[in-house]
Amino acid sequence: MLCYPEYLDLPRIYMMFAVYLSASLSVLFFFLLLELRLKRNGISLKEFLVLIFKKYRNWGSYISDVLTHRKFLRDRKTGGISHFFMVYALLLSFIGTMLVAYNQYYDIITGSQVFCGIFFESYSFVMDVVMWILFFSSLGGLVALYLRRKIVPKKDMFFNSLYLLGFVYLALTGALLESFRINYLGIKSYYFFNSILFGFKISYFEYLLAYISHFELAFFLIAIIPETSVFHSLLSLTNYLKDERPSGELRKPFDLKEIMEKGAFDVQVGINKTSDIKGFDRLELEACMHCYRCQDVCPAYAAGRPLSPTELITGLKEGIKREEAIWDFIQEDTIWSCTTCGACIEACPVYIRHTDYIVDSRRALVMDMKLDEKKNALLLSLSSQENTIGVPNQDRNSWLSGEGIKKASEVNDVKNLLWVGCMGSFDPEARDIVKNFIEIIKKAELQEDYAYLGEEETCCGDPARRIGEESKFQDLAIKNIELFKKYNIKNIVTICPHGYNTFKNEYAKIDPWMKNVNVRHYSEVIQELLEKEKIKVRMSEEVLTIHDPCYLSRHNGVVEPQRFILKKVGKIKEPQHSGKNTFCCGAGGSNYWYEVKENEKISHIRFKELRNTGASSVVVLCPFCNAMLNDASTVLSDGKIKVKDIAEAVRDNLV
Ligand code: SF4
Ligand code: SF4
Repeated sequence: MLCYPEYLDLPRIYMMFAVYLSASLSVLFFFLLLELRLKRNGISLKEFLVLIFKKYRNWGSYISDVLTHRKFLRDRKTGGISHFFMVYALLLSFIGTMLVAYNQYYDIITGSQVFCGIFFESYSFVMDVVMWILFFSSLGGLVALYLRRKIVPKKDMFFNSLYLLGFVYLALTGALLESFRINYLGIKSYYFFNSILFGFKISYFEYLLAYISHFELAFFLIAIIPETSVFHSLLSLTNYLKDERPSGELRKPFDLKEIMEKGAFDVQVGINKTSDIKGFDRLELEACMHCYRCQDVCPAYAAGRPLSPTELITGLKEGIKREEAIWDFIQEDTIWSCTTCGACIEACPVYIRHTDYIVDSRRALVMDMKLDEKKNALLLSLSSQENTIGVPNQDRNSWLSGEGIKKASEVNDVKNLLWVGCMGSFDPEARDIVKNFIEIIKKAELQEDYAYLGEEETCCGDPARRIGEESKFQDLAIKNIELFKKYNIKNIVTICPHGYNTFKNEYAKIDPWMKNVNVRHYSEVIQELLEKEKIKVRMSEEVLTIHDPCYLSRHNGVVEPQRFILKKVGKIKEPQHSGKNTFCCGAGGSNYWYEVKENEKISHIRFKELRNTGASSVVVLCPFCNAMLNDASTVLSDGKIKVKDIAEAVRDNLV
């Protein structure tokens, strides 16, 4: 039977020795270079390996994310497909090589081979195909690299080109070796199409040269991975594993309670210099491959604000090599341009979390009191009134007294706390959202199950945290959690996705007690009421489009309730950006309270896209989106396209 003729008549023992010696040296150099690169970033090899292996449970989701190439294929089809083929070709080549090694051991131990007959022919066929995929995808990679020559740093350009040329050589020699082997044996079979393609015999010496150069190059390329951009593949794994926070949760730089108790006020907060970026964060930045996917989806960039998330990350990546003040190469307005919408995080194939660096930079600006009048006014309002509007907090919810639900202080058992929020409390249009939601609850005869805090309620802290005032955020969070404990709150319902995100994802890091509190957005409650038939709605002729809020749909994946509800009251027309792939209204990340120079308002860009659906009404699920898009509608459609909240859409059709 025909078996795999790896070494032909070359002396097997010497060839195996050469291959395994090279493989061992390759692994040894790989780890030496890895240690050097990690050391430059202040991380030990042990820390690196501990991170990877301690979180082995998360490997599955990482691998499936990479294998599906979800992020690569989402927006850039050509580049994504080329990357997809290259990754799969390399993966299959690696598996193929491992199978050959297995075949050799099997042969040594048993004196017979596994790779014989149809198995050998199939293996050979697959590897032939793989080699050509690797060849063409590497050429594609070289073309893509050439097209991006102006934006990729010279060093990366040089090494990446060499690497891709290396793949081209490996693919070609792989195909040739296969052809030589088959022709040497004189086999004619359509399985071995490379032999038909090349169709010539070579001498032992030529085979030896091609064979040695093939495996030596392969081992060399493996050995130098840690010093090249190819290392991004491993760094994307550490980026994925290092932080398990949802994208809407910001990191906590200190614990206010602990600081107060210990009196240890000397903590470094924020990023002023690149040396303030440490350890795995430095590696996170190094993973960036200048693919510009984050810039493509950034609303701030689209609006002509001075922010490109790609240039921000690549600037920091280069900056950490020079160790300098970040303000030497980043404008303050770049940092203020971000709405923390998370589109960049969602798009980034190597799992970089841009907003961490943006908010950390804001924290440094807040520490140094480099704030303009409007930002100062917000912080002053939060300090003096504990709300974002700058008016006394005592009257916060007095307007709610006649609406039919009670204050928490008036009931024995608060089944559901209705968190009204600063917008819901003070903004006239947002008050209507609360009123409409209460009407729905009353229709379901569940008003007894809900209570609100009244004058005891303060800001949830989201604006303080996102503007970079971490102490104020934690101060507000601590006070609110004490209130929740006082009333033994187990369920919170918010009308605001920002409060929803903060309570759901961030409060538990302030006090683990919050893990026991179930936080829901009012759209989830309305969906439940409809499902349980506690309320009924009629179908209308209205054509609706949905604006999904970033903090509800992208950061927290809530996309289904709004569609479930609206399908019952009208016809839905989805905009280009919808669900998790939504487009910001421009208010998040505290942007609602200040202005940044821009060519076009983010809310206008979004409104135009919503208008293009041809819908007569835009349905929103957030008081901030409501305000932003209502303004946009007034300017761009004279208010003809109605912007309505989902509670209003339901209330109008209650039966
Ligand atoms: S969070 Fe949004 S606004 Fe900020 S950089 Fe990312 S995409 Fe741009
Ligand atoms: S940060 Fe991520 S998405 Fe942005 S350019 Fe770098 S690799 Fe691409």
